[in-house]
Amino acid sequence: MKQFVQGQRGPSLDISQTTEVTCDECGNDKFTVVFKVRKVAALLSPSGQEGFVPLQTFECTSCGHINEGFMSDYR
Ligand SMILES: [Zn+2]
Repeated sequence: MKQFVQGQRGPSLDISQTTEVTCDECGNDKFTVVFKVRKVAALLSPSGQEGFVPLQTFECTSCGHINEGFMSDYR
């Protein structure tokens, strides 16, 4: 799972070709969208100013766990 499908992709996405994702901790199959926030130092920021970058990910609605796979893009 390297990429999230962002937003609506029209009729070409066949939901039957997708795979159900469950929580690695408790097996729950429902997630809510949450954001991790990364602080960017001024030296590394494109704008030259210190800032914050939101990283969208998914959190288990039952136990709050975030699967490792959800964060693989950001490492
Ligand atoms: Zn869970």
